[in-house]
Amino acid sequence: MDKHNNDPRFSFEFFPPRTDVGVEKLRDVHRELAALEPDFFSVTYGAGGSTRDGTRQTVTAVKQAGSDVAPHLSFGGSSKEDIASLLIDYKNMGINRLVALRGDIPSGTGVASQYFYANELIEFVRKTTGDHFHIEVACYPEIHPQSDSYDSDLKYFKNKVNAGADSAITQYFYNPDAYFYFVDACRKAGINIPIVPGIMPITNFTSLQRFSNNCGAEIPRWIRQRLQAYGDDSNSIRDFGIEVVQTLCENLLAGGAPGLHFYTMNQTEPVRQIWQQLGLRTR
Ligand code: FAD
Repeated sequence: MDKHNNDPRFSFEFFPPRTDVGVEKLRDVHRELAALEPDFFSVTYGAGGSTRDGTRQTVTAVKQAGSDVAPHLSFGGSSKEDIASLLIDYKNMGINRLVALRGDIPSGTGVASQYFYANELIEFVRKTTGDHFHIEVACYPEIHPQSDSYDSDLKYFKNKVNAGADSAITQYFYNPDAYFYFVDACRKAGINIPIVPGIMPITNFTSLQRFSNNCGAEIPRWIRQRLQAYGDDSNSIRDFGIEVVQTLCENLLAGGAPGLHFYTMNQTEPVRQIWQQLGLRTR
């Protein structure tokens, strides 16, 4: 099903905009990034299913604008019937790739016990729609923050592969060794699907720090120190961020990463700039 089986694959992630202005803006961002000819776009699914309609609308808009698109999906608070009907809708729209997740737990809801783990969603998707969808899953080179241990996180990742995941996208990281060590550990554990690094551009230190605290991604001390020292100097942060992320991407691709997935934050820049400096294809 992949268009370029042996070529690196590239994808760009969006979140569903909350306002009409955001919808307009994303239309432009999509057009600008589509010109780079990624293999697909993906659209996130709000914690607990909070953006079920918004995700569907954004997925529809991206698809109608001519791009392949992978909706993110979790059970969230929805019934199995609702998720089955969403899957059928997506299938009928000609969508053939999904990112299957447990999903973030909405703040204030406490324990995760009512949420289905991602492997259970994958089993459900396979039961409902067979092999129609290429299923992507999330994985964590620096370990999922709620995980008991590195080994148990690997074990649960393997459960997702056994349930039918076709490939994985990582949480972002800035230390390429974490990725390469993780891929080795996965191969030793018998996990053989492609593991595509998730790439988070650096544009704002405060928000990066907040995200990273929440999702367990480490900002190496040398990067933190430099970003802190730039203070409000957004041009220097941008230039330094592009240099760091471009070098990271180069190292990952040179080391055999099977592609890159960019967390665009619904912005054209700096992804386009990193892309151009990497000399990535425009097919
Ligand atoms: P799982 O693989 O189900 O794992 C969740 C945790 O439970 C892990 O600690 C795992 O080790 C543990 N675990 C798994 N199975 C079991 C079991 N049987 N018993 C005990 N413990 C178990 N969040 C959103 O809300 N919406 C999105 O659109 C979204 N997109 C993402 C895209 C990518 C590429 C990534 C990397 C993350 C994304 N997230 C998104 C965040 C993700 O939902 C969170 O990290 C979430 O906390 C875990 O989801 P998961 O699918 O990895 O969960």
